[in-house]
Amino acid sequence: MATCMVDASRGLRALPREPGRMQETIDLVAHAAMRDLRSFTRRTGQPTTIDLLDTSPMEHVQEIEITEEHITVTYNQKTTFKYNVNEITHKEWSYKYNEDPEFVKAIGVVIELSRKHLRDIPDNVACPPGCAECCSGYEPFVSRADVQRIADHFGMSYEDTLAQYVVARDSADGFVVGYLRKIEDDIASQCVFLKGSGSGRHFCGIYEARPHDCGAFTPIGCEDVDASLRHNRKFEPGSPFKPKPHAVVAKRKLRR
Ligand code: SF4
Ligand code: SF4
Repeated sequence: MATCMVDASRGLRALPREPGRMQETIDLVAHAAMRDLRSFTRRTGQPTTIDLLDTSPMEHVQEIEITEEHITVTYNQKTTFKYNVNEITHKEWSYKYNEDPEFVKAIGVVIELSRKHLRDIPDNVACPPGCAECCSGYEPFVSRADVQRIADHFGMSYEDTLAQYVVARDSADGFVVGYLRKIEDDIASQCVFLKGSGSGRHFCGIYEARPHDCGAFTPIGCEDVDASLRHNRKFEPGSPFKPKPHAVVAKRKLRR
């Protein structure tokens, strides 16, 4: 920000060429900003000097929240790595635009557009049938309840289901017990329950019993969507995933 003031003794008539006029404009803006700062200090008692102004550029924007009253931008997040905990700090720019009619109008248009967009169902709230990019690139975490549901779905024991289909991991609170296995030991590989790969018409082989993590996945804002698939195409999933017969027998024996 320019810090020099207007030289009142020269007067506006002394303005020579275009570049000088530009400087004068910047100085006037700075002058007005300083006046605002002093007035703020008088009203609130808080010190306000140019040095205290955050003039760092707004980079690495994490979140923009728009409500009917405010726009808040969270940016410049910084993580300080420590021995057993990380300290995360960020800056926030918040603007209350109630008294700025042009801004209110512009934000009104954005809000209306987003509402309209939300109404564009099903394209925005449903995955195109056959898409399974997220069943290959992610490892869904599973809780005890997830494993039990899959076990009941197959008629298997909890222990066998855990051993066969879950890579067990301890978690701090004991809620998560691991993540679903892939067909190969590679995060990019597909979930062990994913079916239809041969035909390119993917579907979840345990859909009703899938982990909560999978059910909570939303296509809104998904960047992995297979854009070659159409939403309106007819899609009949094939036969569901079936565990190897000996695993189910083991459960029946246990029940007796
Ligand atoms: S359980 Fe089903 S939905 Fe979840 S990753 Fe595997 S195939 Fe996909
Ligand atoms: S659209 Fe996204 S969330 Fe839905 S199946 Fe495809 S990759 Fe997964």
